[in-house]
Amino acid sequence: MEYSIGELKDLFDGKLPWNRVKQIMSHPKDDDRFDKYIEILQERFPWPERILLPLGEHLYVVDKAGERIVKCDCGHEFGDYRRNWKLSALIFVRDDYDTLQEIYPGIRSPDPKLCEVREYYCPGCASMLKVESVPVGYPIIFEFLPDIDSFYREWLGRPLSEEREFKDMTYEVTSEWGRRS
Ligand SMILES: [Zn+2]
Repeated sequence: MEYSIGELKDLFDGKLPWNRVKQIMSHPKDDDRFDKYIEILQERFPWPERILLPLGEHLYVVDKAGERIVKCDCGHEFGDYRRNWKLSALIFVRDDYDTLQEIYPGIRSPDPKLCEVREYYCPGCASMLKVESVPVGYPIIFEFLPDIDSFYREWLGRPLSEEREFKDMTYEVTSEWGRRS
């Protein structure tokens, strides 16, 4: 089944009537859905870098002069996508009774001795990018390190020109912090 860009835009924006959404969901995906999705996203943002992969609401891995970086739709850049972008975000931690009560009022509130809620915000536009609820002191979760080269090579059948080593480089950021302190 083929869909127009206009119809897919309405689908992504949640503007399509439910019976049509259901119809689309129950059919196999069209082969070029990923490309159409990227095309729709790309024209929404003023920046020129090519989007390689959406990472979730607001965030994208883009190609910036050969570097693969995480970028917010507002234009703020978080650096190499192999380093957890959360380490470069603004972080608000709810780790006491009063701040936890603001989002979990009454008896639903978790025990601040056991649990903390971390909110991650974009330093450029202040959008909330992620929330994680974890045991106290738990390391910051790196949720998604995509294997972009395998995705383009094996799933889309068109490898990216310069393949990169696929590894988590987050420790480079934290070891740098260790050296400075
Ligand atoms: Zn932003």
